[in-house]
Amino acid sequence: MSTIDDLPPLRTVIATHDIAAKKSLGQNFLLDLNLTAKIARMAGDLTKADVLEVGPGPGGLTRGLLAEGARRVLAVEKDARCLPALAEIAARYPGRLEVVNADALELDATSYLTPPIKICANLPYNVGTELLVRWLTPPVWPPVWESLTLMFQREVAQRIVAAPGSKTYGRLAILSQWRTDAGIVLDLPPEAFTPAPKVSSAVVHLKALPAPRFAADADVLNRVVAAAFNQRRKMLRSSLKGVAPDIEDRLTAAGIKPTERAEQISVEGFCALAREVARA
Ligand code: SAM
Repeated sequence: MSTIDDLPPLRTVIATHDIAAKKSLGQNFLLDLNLTAKIARMAGDLTKADVLEVGPGPGGLTRGLLAEGARRVLAVEKDARCLPALAEIAARYPGRLEVVNADALELDATSYLTPPIKICANLPYNVGTELLVRWLTPPVWPPVWESLTLMFQREVAQRIVAAPGSKTYGRLAILSQWRTDAGIVLDLPPEAFTPAPKVSSAVVHLKALPAPRFAADADVLNRVVAAAFNQRRKMLRSSLKGVAPDIEDRLTAAGIKPTERAEQISVEGFCALAREVARA
């Protein structure tokens, strides 16, 4: 029996169901149920929310989310070997856990859920950034989800919260900070996982803002930011040449020196530039 529920400890679950971790699926499991319950609490009050979990694996975080009172959890797992272990959790929490055996990249999982929706996951490293970018770029804002509470490699977490002027500041920071409040809420060493990965990890909490922090057209902003950071060492007047024929004038009108480089420009500055480019 574990500390948060009356199901067996995760080591027993993994041995019983023969779920040896596979590197190809990014499987680094959290086996400490006190830690998974703590991560679940970082997602805020779950009692009135449907929660999407990508990659439940043997179910450590799933059990944390349910023990913390999640109204309903939809867990999307690619590895069929994990299904019997997840079925035991579903039986322990009748009507509150639905498991879908699918690739999260191929499934519009939020359409299975009723708002308010929170997303909480210890993401497989190989698809984590791709999923985050998708969640941050829905066709309309505000998105269907209220918050994202996600485990990443620490290096990716730093890119999400990076400030202008830092080496890690780039497209991911702008995408995240334009329309969410984003912060690192927990740092974890490699030994917190089984097997231990080579790098440290961090949990990032992103809360959707009701409206973007600064006005800008999402497509234009994305185009400007992508071009600026594709050649981040170059001055903006040169990296953004393809974005608008009179880019020097647009930069000046946005209050940006054409000789500045992408990493020096704030989110507000990029939004001002996107508005100028759209006006042109
Ligand atoms: N949540 C568990 C935990 O915290 O111990 C497992 C986390 S492990 C880092 C990532 C999980 O995502 C694995 O169970 C893996 O099988 C699953 N996974 C990998 N790629 C996936 C995909 N494309 N769609 C859904 N699940 C995936």
